[in-house]
Order: sequence, then C-alpha cells, then structure tokens
Amino acid sequence: LVSRSKQPEDTVLDIGKLRIGGKAPPLMIAGPCSIESEEQMMVTAAFLAEQGVSILRGGAFKPRTSPYGFQGLGPEGLRIGKQAARAGGQLFVTEIMDTRDIEIMSEYADILQVGARNMQNFALLREVGRSRLPVLLKRGLAATVEEWLYAAEYILSEGNASVILCERGIRTFEKWTRNTLDLSAVVLAKQETHLPVIVDVTHAAGRRDLLLPLARAALAAGADGIHVEVHPNPATALSDNEQQLDFAGYREFAAGLQPFLEAA
Ligand code: PEP
Ligand code: MN
Repeated sequence: LVSRSKQPEDTVLDIGKLRIGGKAPPLMIAGPCSIESEEQMMVTAAFLAEQGVSILRGGAFKPRTSPYGFQGLGPEGLRIGKQAARAGGQLFVTEIMDTRDIEIMSEYADILQVGARNMQNFALLREVGRSRLPVLLKRGLAATVEEWLYAAEYILSEGNASVILCERGIRTFEKWTRNTLDLSAVVLAKQETHLPVIVDVTHAAGRRDLLLPLARAALAAGADGIHVEVHPNPATALSDNEQQLDFAGYREFAAGLQPFLEAA
C-alpha cells in the first residue's frame, strides 16, 4: 500500500488547514523535546507561532534510555501541549509509547508520533493504524529502509493512510554526531513510496552547529519538511539539552533555511 507502484501520485495530507506532501510548501515541526511546564510550552508556542511554525511538538511520554531519566509529565503534559498549540493556532504532535494510551492521545494530539524506539512495535503500529489520526513514523535507530517502509505498511494495512515518514539518523560507528543522517533513505523513501517524508535534524545531529546545513541538505534531497527541537532555555531542559535551539538560535536557523524553503 505504501508503494509508488500502487499509487503513482504523492499522498497529500490535509490536517486542519495544513497540507503536507506533494506540492505543498515544506512544513516545519518545532518545539521542545519534553513538555516540562505550562509556562515553557506557552512561551514556546507563542514564539513559534510568530515565526510561522504550524506544528508544535513536545513529548508527554518520553522514551528515555535510563529509567531514572525524566519520563515526561504524562496526561498533564498532553493537556498543556494541546492548550499551548491551540493558543498558538498550531497542530500538536506528541509521541505515543503504549497502545493503552490511544484514547487519551486521541483526545489531545492532532498527530501521533511513533518514535524511533517503537518503529517495530507491531502492536502499537496496528493500534495507530486503527486510529483516524495522522501518524508521524520515525525510522528506527538501526532499521533498514525496507523495515521502515514495512512499519508504515502496518499502519496503512489497518486503514490509516495518513502517514508521514521521518528520517532521524541511524546508528553508525561515527561518534562526532549522535546519529548519522541518512539522506539516501529520504531519497529512497520518496522514490519507493507516495508518502510525505520529513527530516528530524535534531536527533540526527545531536549538536547545534550541524542543524542548519543538514536541514538545507534535507530540503535539497526532496524532504517535505523539517523537524527541529526548540526550548526557551535549553541549558535547563530535562532532556536533549545539548541539541535544542533557543529562540535566538531558532531565528537564525529559520532565516538561514528560508531561501531553501522557497526553492524547495
Ligand atoms: C523525540 O522526537 O522526542 C524522540 C524521542 O525522537 P526519536 O524517537 O527519533 O529518538
Ligand atoms: Mn529529543
């Protein structure tokens, strides 16, 4: 179902007043790694709205490497995230980690994110496939392109055709970046499927100095959008404080990307 041989034309998703994929202008998804407080989300949503960002992100359920790391605010985080997104006139995307959360997620999220660590959680893929909400499907840390596309196939096979693929870097021997951004996967996913494909530069790079060049490269490679983490004060962030942009950093990032957005 995901294959271009089944559907030659690009899937274009209509979510609220947003169009994603096809000839639609590249979309920007931005917001903090974790939802930490009402104040943090409200100021971030207001700032990003002023910057023209139409999708606000933020995790309420966080897949942390250590069980002692900040795990997210849970349902309270969902409430805050939606409230902030509505105040900013934005759509809200947040990660679902557990099939049991589908109902509460559907109440608050506009787009369900399936994170890299759950890309082959087949029960979760089927559950979001039965939902009517669009799904942002991240590529697994060590997933081949084929495995990633089969994961998308699980969602479509349950009846949900609204899938956005997200390349977020894979694990390699390279240590100077957190992951290795695989732009060939973006090109392949665009060639082999009709789904929109976006690139998460934050988790791919793991360092701020690479975000802009990688985002430019992603758009040049044909990506339909960019995902980037933005926090009012990254130094104090409860997760991913190395790589989130502050507001000044985002301004510079967006300005540097502007000509590439227009060209894309
Ligand atoms: C995230 O986007 O919050 C996240 C945890 O990303 P990933 O699943 O790509 O690691
Ligand atoms: Mn993060």
